[in-house]
Amino acid sequence: MSPDNAGHSTWPRRDTRPVEVGDVAIGGGAPVSVQTMTKTDTLDVAATVAQIERSAAAGADLVRAAVPSIEAVDAFERVRSASPLPVIADVHFDHRIAVACAGAGADKLRINPGNIGDDQRLARVIEAATQAGIPIRVGVNSGSLEEDIVERHGGVTAAGLAESAARTVERMRRLGFEELVVSIKAADVPMTVAANRAFAGRSDLPLHLGITEAGFGCAAAVKSAAGLGVLLADGIGDTIRVSMTDPPEDEVEVGIWLLRSLGLRDGPWLISCPTCGRCRVDLATLAREAEAALRELRAPLKVAVMGCEVNGPGEARQADVGLAAGRGRAVIFARGQQLRTVPIGEAVEALMQEARRIAEDMQDPDAPH
Ligand code: SF4
Repeated sequence: MSPDNAGHSTWPRRDTRPVEVGDVAIGGGAPVSVQTMTKTDTLDVAATVAQIERSAAAGADLVRAAVPSIEAVDAFERVRSASPLPVIADVHFDHRIAVACAGAGADKLRINPGNIGDDQRLARVIEAATQAGIPIRVGVNSGSLEEDIVERHGGVTAAGLAESAARTVERMRRLGFEELVVSIKAADVPMTVAANRAFAGRSDLPLHLGITEAGFGCAAAVKSAAGLGVLLADGIGDTIRVSMTDPPEDEVEVGIWLLRSLGLRDGPWLISCPTCGRCRVDLATLAREAEAALRELRAPLKVAVMGCEVNGPGEARQADVGLAAGRGRAVIFARGQQLRTVPIGEAVEALMQEARRIAEDMQDPDAPH
């Protein structure tokens, strides 16, 4: 690990075979992508598309939708054509649904070959994916490990999960398919980490990381960040999903902050003070508004929102863009310079004007100012 010029950490990444999911590459040195899963009934096309749009606005790269029945394939097709993101079809038990989804525009299939049927059925899915030119994610889960592996390993273990994944990949390869992404998930963080490390040591296939049944809120976010963070710092992981019993956009937000924290994704970084007795504004609201507005930008801007005109300017000056708020007004800073004072109601827009200008400069440093 070494710090880059922006002070971020750059982690050496594992070399993996790339696959394309719509216009998003997974593996092969592509940026680690963030995905989520819709939680609506896929038959409710409008609600599902709305959830995908919110996920896209939160920064998701990919989204997955369950297709639980053959009747849902038509709805999936309509969701796919209205979606701003590539959509992965999540199919269990019935190979005919997977085949139909490949023909209905799915950008990737997610199956568990262990429950999709015999080789003949799996070969039909593979043929459909090959014709559609889409990859398949094969998932191994601690809850559905093969019995012979459980017996031989004396229970559900990390080594057993890695063996199951390797066996699944071998089965797919025997049937002539290698456009694979692999996931090995458990609800237990150390087991997930150990299983992914073991598999990564013996395969060059891209890995989808996640902790299953992580719970909700803060506990789920920390649990996923702990497990996925360790693996990502090892250079393991090409796409991630933070599973939470919360809306998909919350999953995306945690995933994106996880990648940003590790220097694996660029984006504005908001610094806001904790406030104290000197603060004379509703800084929490101001900071939240600024954070929401900054989502339109991808540049690695440091943006400070400070709660007073005493200590605030120091921090605001050190950021790329900043404001120091006082009663009814705010002082705006950019690149260390104090620019102007604006009414508090215009503070976020004034901050954003400067943020957009600096973000453009960062993208095109030779552009005239
Ligand atoms: S910037 Fe001002 S309001 Fe915020 S914590 Fe520091 S002294 Fe308090």
